[in-house]
Amino acid sequence: MRKEFDIPHWFSAKANDLLENILPYDMAMTYQLKGCNFHKGGQIDGCVFCYVDDESNSGNPDKGVYLSVENIVDSFQKMQKGRGTKVIRTTGGEPFLVPEHMLALYRELENRNVKPILAQIDTNLSTGRLIEHLEKEGIVEKNILGKIAEYDPKLLVAFKGTSDESIRQNIQAVCSVEEQTYTLKKIVEAGLDIYPYIYNPDPKTLESFMGKLQETFPNILPRIHIGLLKVYTPTKQRITLLAQKYDVDPVQLIASYESAWKSNYEESCKIMDTLCLKQEGVHYKEIPRVETERVKVKV
Ligand code: SF4
Repeated sequence: MRKEFDIPHWFSAKANDLLENILPYDMAMTYQLKGCNFHKGGQIDGCVFCYVDDESNSGNPDKGVYLSVENIVDSFQKMQKGRGTKVIRTTGGEPFLVPEHMLALYRELENRNVKPILAQIDTNLSTGRLIEHLEKEGIVEKNILGKIAEYDPKLLVAFKGTSDESIRQNIQAVCSVEEQTYTLKKIVEAGLDIYPYIYNPDPKTLESFMGKLQETFPNILPRIHIGLLKVYTPTKQRITLLAQKYDVDPVQLIASYESAWKSNYEESCKIMDTLCLKQEGVHYKEIPRVETERVKVKV
């Protein structure tokens, strides 16, 4: 059994669970929405560690394939019949740039009486104000997040750092702790069930970040996981181009990112363990997230 036991069966995983109980959640149909608001369309844009290649994340409509909601549900039905696929996962890019897509997808599944055991969405927690604007302009339905929540998808939500500075360094774009927290508040208030990650936290600011977050979401601590970063092929290509830009050795730059990510991860896991023991009386990750209560906004 893997130690980092969360994606893609992150929803069902329980300590000592039997593989046969877990496998259904591992049979996901995953599709990517092309384009992310942290990506400006160039070859080195977006999160440094993003595992999506720049071509797929650029948002360029000339590249890639257009799939309607009907096409996606057709594919899901085929996979359900042929392989027993049970989970449908929408990732990106950033799915909440087009929340109307999510609602249309779940309505289409409902209309055809197709029942995945689980629907998952990944989000970079940056589109709260955009969604408000789209609602105000009548581009999407009012209360669109609440309408999506009626289908109870499970959201993998990603904090991109623990301070404004660390977020900017990680995503190579503009966002802030306030923007991410604001978006999460909207998501949770709408009734959506969240499974948060922090990617490449800065151990120096992690504890104060958590304290601030708990002012809005008092029960969020047991749900937070620190994301483990790996150097995938697109990551390697991106860092190699960054090295060329700054005229440094690519091998050394990749190694220095890898070592910083590893040390931030290990240090942050220890900090989380101390916080969990102090506040919850259990070790970090001791209780599977599915067994913890839904994250709520402080009233
Ligand atoms: S937010 Fe996600 S999809 Fe966008 S660049 Fe970052 S890791 Fe990639």
